[in-house]
Amino acid sequence: MNKKGRLIVITGPSGVGKTTLIKKLLNEYKDKVYFSVSFTSRLPRDSEIDGVDYYFISKEEFKKRVKRNKFLEYALVHDNYYGTDKKLVEDTVFSGKDCLLDIDVQGGLNLMSKNIKAIYIFIAPPSIITLKKRLLKRYTDTYDVIEKRVINAEKEIKEKDNYQYIITNDNFNKAYKELKTILFKN
Ligand code: 5GP
Repeated sequence: MNKKGRLIVITGPSGVGKTTLIKKLLNEYKDKVYFSVSFTSRLPRDSEIDGVDYYFISKEEFKKRVKRNKFLEYALVHDNYYGTDKKLVEDTVFSGKDCLLDIDVQGGLNLMSKNIKAIYIFIAPPSIITLKKRLLKRYTDTYDVIEKRVINAEKEIKEKDNYQYIITNDNFNKAYKELKTILFKN
């Protein structure tokens, strides 16, 4: 029988650099780690592809999926729904590959409260000011949206000690090295 894969939960405030770290990891460990593409009711950004970055669905469709118990966890983040597909995660782990989730802080806490076994990693910014600067530089959101994300980030950072591992992303290469050590050198 196949050895089961691990569930890897990576969280942290929006703009902290989670996605860049994850993309590099997935590229380097293509054969070992599979990304769980989430469902969301938010509209795609210009560069995003349906089925790659997210499965983009309407709020109504999302709620139907909630009723049918399709999600391992889901959350309302900055006024939009986001959810992890239960079957996709189960199939990946059973196939022997690690399954990586990029989810918000609430989502991670939600999985912990259900006693879901995973490696829980929190990516923290060096400071709130740095985070705001990064969000502004990203040009993907309006100023109002950025303000909301910063306020939310302050709340999220307070939860970091509930996570098994905390990586402060003040230098990308250093943060990436720490991530690899946690996942592959323990
Ligand atoms: P964004 O809109 O910037 O792509 O994502 C906003 C936030 O939603 C990010 O913190 C991201 O990690 C989180 N997120 C993405 N997918 C999921 C999911 O399936 N569940 C939860 N709880 N959060 C998610």
